[in-house]
Amino acid sequence: MNNPTKIVNELIYDYNLNIEEAIDIEDLISKMDIRLVSTELEEGILGASKVEGLKRLIVISSKVYNEEQKRFTLAHELGHILIHRGTHYFSKEDLSTICTSKQKEDEADRFAVELLLPSKIIGNIIKENDVNFELIKQISKKYRMSLTSTAIRVAELTNDNIILLYHKNNTIKWWHKSNGEIFFDKKHKGIDLARIEQERDILSRNVELNLWLSEDEGLYSCYEETIYFNKLNEYMTLVQII
Ligand SMILES: [Zn+2]
Repeated sequence: MNNPTKIVNELIYDYNLNIEEAIDIEDLISKMDIRLVSTELEEGILGASKVEGLKRLIVISSKVYNEEQKRFTLAHELGHILIHRGTHYFSKEDLSTICTSKQKEDEADRFAVELLLPSKIIGNIIKENDVNFELIKQISKKYRMSLTSTAIRVAELTNDNIILLYHKNNTIKWWHKSNGEIFFDKKHKGIDLARIEQERDILSRNVELNLWLSEDEGLYSCYEETIYFNKLNEYMTLVQII
C-alpha cells in the first residue's frame, strides 16, 4: 500500500511549495519536467497520464472548463505518475477504472486531495474556527477547490461531531461522518427540509435532536445548515451535534 500523504510531503519539501495558499499545479508540473498537453479526449474522460522510461506526460481534456475540476484532474494524474507510473485515464464516473485498479484510483485521489487541501493547513484552520459552511466557503475560495470537495475534506479532518449529506428529492446521494463519537440515525428524518430558493444560500437552524440521532440521550444540541444548488436542484446539509 502506497502512502500518498508521504509522497505529497516529499514533493512540498523538494519543490519548496507554499501550502499556505493554493498550489499552482500547472507550474509544478512544468517544474517537474512533465509534459502537459490539452487535447480532445474521448467523451467522459477528463485526463490521462503516461510514464515511459524517463518521459512523463499528462493529458487534460480540452472540454474541462471548470477550473476546480481541472486542478483536481491534474493533481490526480500527477499522483498516478509519482505513485503508479504506467498509463491511466480519469473519467467522469471515476472514479471508474479503465486501465487501473480501484486501489490505484483511491491513491491518486488521496494524493490530489492532500496536495490541494493539505491536512496540516486545513486541520489547523478547522481547529481554530467553528466548522460551518461560511468557513468551508472561505477555504474553498482560497484553495480554489469546489465547495463539495472542501466540505468533504473538512468533515474528514475535524474532530467535531458532524455529518455531511448530499441529497435530492429527500433521497440521500451520499454522506460523510466525521470522527466524532456521536451515532447518527440512518433514517435521517432531517432531510425533509424547507426549500431554499436562492442558489447557494444557507439555511441555518437549530433542530430537534431526534431528527438526526437514534438515541436522544445526554446533553446535546443539534445545529443544521443547508445549501441549495439551484441548477441541480440538490442540497448539501451539514449537521453538527454539540
Ligand atoms: Zn486515475
